[in-house]
Amino acid sequence: MAPPPKYDVSPEVPIRVTDLLNQAQIPCCLWENLMLSVLGASVEVTDADFIIPDQQMATAAVVLVSNNFKECTMSVDDCPKFGPLRGEPRPARHFFFDDGTHTGENSQTVNLWAHRSLLGHFPEIPCNVPSRGVHGHPYISAAHTTLLPPHVPGRCIGRLQDLVVEGRRVNVITFKPTPLIEHLLILLSRDIDRRPPAEHVWRSYLSAILEAQNYHGMADVAGFEWALTRTAWVALLENSPSSFDKTLRRMQADDIMGRTRAR
Ligand SMILES: [Zn+2]
Repeated sequence: MAPPPKYDVSPEVPIRVTDLLNQAQIPCCLWENLMLSVLGASVEVTDADFIIPDQQMATAAVVLVSNNFKECTMSVDDCPKFGPLRGEPRPARHFFFDDGTHTGENSQTVNLWAHRSLLGHFPEIPCNVPSRGVHGHPYISAAHTTLLPPHVPGRCIGRLQDLVVEGRRVNVITFKPTPLIEHLLILLSRDIDRRPPAEHVWRSYLSAILEAQNYHGMADVAGFEWALTRTAWVALLENSPSSFDKTLRRMQADDIMGRTRAR
């Protein structure tokens, strides 16, 4: 018998949500486990997560609600899904796929994350990333690019296909692996020993990306040493060399450094 799929979200969901938001001139980039699975990581995907500009959050909510998504109206601390995740990064707004509610473990949601809560030092996601020339962007890429790993049933969503809704070409956007690693190292360096639940999340993302790198041999992660060097600069510029030292020591303990040098 085939192993059960690690994901419950159909790739049609991120394509549909991206189409709805882009039609309202709201840029969006995949995030969380959906993004990790598109990048080839073996993770469980129950939700569709997007980063969008902070100032367009209210408009995005109107767009989703007027297209048959229902917003969870509970405060984030009271919500049975995100309330228990206190201390972890949590989305700004979340929406049920239909008129559902949080029932049992199967409450799939579309989650919108505020850009500045995650990417304080990164520029906004451009609204219309041209399908050509997206490789020149510093941290995002089209989710259908052949540089991304293929779909592997039961393992990962991989690069998206059939990105057409009602004749419109949809440009789903994801992080590129190397800038993602760099960014996660910065977040880890910020939260290490200060905010353990968040530290745990960044470490699990890094592990998932490294696992995907090992499985697929992802080309874009070749600049890992560069990413580390850049992280050191940022930590020094932000006057937090001690937190960077801790990050390095943890990575050495996890043998991430050893694997990097051995490559
Ligand atoms: Zn909720």
